[in-house]
Amino acid sequence: SKGFVGLQDLDNLAKNSFPLCMRHLFFNLRHEHHLKFGGRQQLGLFLKGIGLKLEDALNFWRSEFTVKMTTEKFDKEYGYSIRHNFGKEGKRVDYTPYSCMKIITSTPGVGDHHGCPYRHFSQENLRSVLEDQQLSSRTVDAVMEKVRNRHYQLACATTFEAIHGCPSDGINHPNQYFEQSRRALQ
Ligand code: SF4
Repeated sequence: SKGFVGLQDLDNLAKNSFPLCMRHLFFNLRHEHHLKFGGRQQLGLFLKGIGLKLEDALNFWRSEFTVKMTTEKFDKEYGYSIRHNFGKEGKRVDYTPYSCMKIITSTPGVGDHHGCPYRHFSQENLRSVLEDQQLSSRTVDAVMEKVRNRHYQLACATTFEAIHGCPSDGINHPNQYFEQSRRALQ
């Protein structure tokens, strides 16, 4: 059964157990105090999927966004869609987190940070992100080779295996990456 994730755990979890797509969004939000719609959806539903509860989700997004805007503006313009993703507004659908396929086939525009880094980053940018994760140059080369062959999820699995030092069951969902990581790091 899935435990709840508290706000105080998020930065460590992001550093150790988020796949690149979610790390990128998370730390961008931390630095810029803003994310555009596609990023809010991709990260917000993922966070719901790892067990962040609605109240904590609202506090998390509010604490970042209100660095640059009033609480009133945040609650009016952004609070609704967060509650909506938790099935508390509109049609009251409990929305599910995005799969890798959905993320890989998305089309981020200028200023967007959503998408899959293996698919959407330039080669130089991806390489430097991988090197920041302390991956050996041999591993980085193996990942880049898979990316060139358009095997983005295999590239992600190779990264997972190098970071965790154990095999993965394959990666087809960011939340599954997260669950596998938590198990591996236990
Ligand atoms: Fe995220 Fe999936 Fe891309 Fe990995 S392969 S970075 S989990 S979208």
